[in-house]
Amino acid sequence: MSQVVYITVESPDRAQGDGNAFAQAEWIHPHLIESVHPAKGRQFRVSGPVRKGEQLLVDHPYAIIPVVDEPASNDNLLCSNPTCNRRASCPTRVSCPDACITDVVWCGEACQNADTRRHAFECLWLKRYAGLIRAKWGEYDFGMLWLIVRILATRQTGHASPTTNFELQGEQERFKQGWDAIESLCGSQDTWSHEQVKAWSTLVKKYLRSSSILPHGLPTDRILHLICQEEANSFGLYPRETGVFPLPHPPVDRGEQFAAAVYAVAAIANHSCLPNVSHKPDNQGRMVFTASQDILPGEECCISYFDLTRFGDLNTRREHLRKSFRFVCRCERCSSEEPVEEAVEWTGMPLMDD
Ligand SMILES: [Zn+2]
Ligand SMILES: [Zn+2]
Ligand SMILES: [Zn+2]
Repeated sequence: MSQVVYITVESPDRAQGDGNAFAQAEWIHPHLIESVHPAKGRQFRVSGPVRKGEQLLVDHPYAIIPVVDEPASNDNLLCSNPTCNRRASCPTRVSCPDACITDVVWCGEACQNADTRRHAFECLWLKRYAGLIRAKWGEYDFGMLWLIVRILATRQTGHASPTTNFELQGEQERFKQGWDAIESLCGSQDTWSHEQVKAWSTLVKKYLRSSSILPHGLPTDRILHLICQEEANSFGLYPRETGVFPLPHPPVDRGEQFAAAVYAVAAIANHSCLPNVSHKPDNQGRMVFTASQDILPGEECCISYFDLTRFGDLNTRREHLRKSFRFVCRCERCSSEEPVEEAVEWTGMPLMDD
């Protein structure tokens, strides 16, 4: 018999503000391991058999932002308290007393009070820049910059995980967590086109320098690197599963995006157009990986980075992955669909240009 003990802890790291106690994965399957592939880099494998339907990972977001239209009246806004992240529906939710932006809400006063310190880190920045960035650069760039600010807020203010499951500690130690994990995410200036990096560099200099409004203390180069990492590793959150394959009849898409988040452990997963793992956020913004078929010891665990109902044939999939994720997919399915004369050796190298 095993007894799981949940206990709230205040991490000693919290005083130092490195935030490493925040956002520990809530569940990691005992067989899930990380390894390094010479071409693909970090990857998930299993050290023992995993049956279809078993949960492999439940990972708490390191940082998460809502992504919705008309936030003032939208019922899909998420509570800003990082230990909650539940849907905060209109009649009962509370807004920021300093009226920073309508996207910031809490499901109630208790969540708001518990989140005072973290929100103080972003509030001034939001008040000063949110409207400006949205008007001048658009919603996508605003969301990206806000997610970076929330990553910095977690790093800066830290947060003890609401429940630390001591039975899990052995598993957690197999994976880096917290800011250490964010530092090891793939993605660098070489991953992206020169034009793209130049545009991000402008945004960093204008809006993300360390200042009294955003006191993170990191050099601008490091923040630019953080954007390169975030853009390579962040997840869109959708109400239904991503990566169910073969597609059911009729196909079911994953629905409309309601948030974007960065996960320390889930980010390790590589893509396959024939994934053996499906993923879907739970009602607290935690990313849940579930085996969608039996997985044999030593096999890699892959998710799909996109909605498989939307990009059907080889060329459409490859074009989407090349544009959005900067690599040429040579998964089992893509290789099998390649015309014979075009078959090329797997390189796994990211594209260096457009
Ligand atoms: Zn809440
Ligand atoms: Zn505020
Ligand atoms: Zn593929």
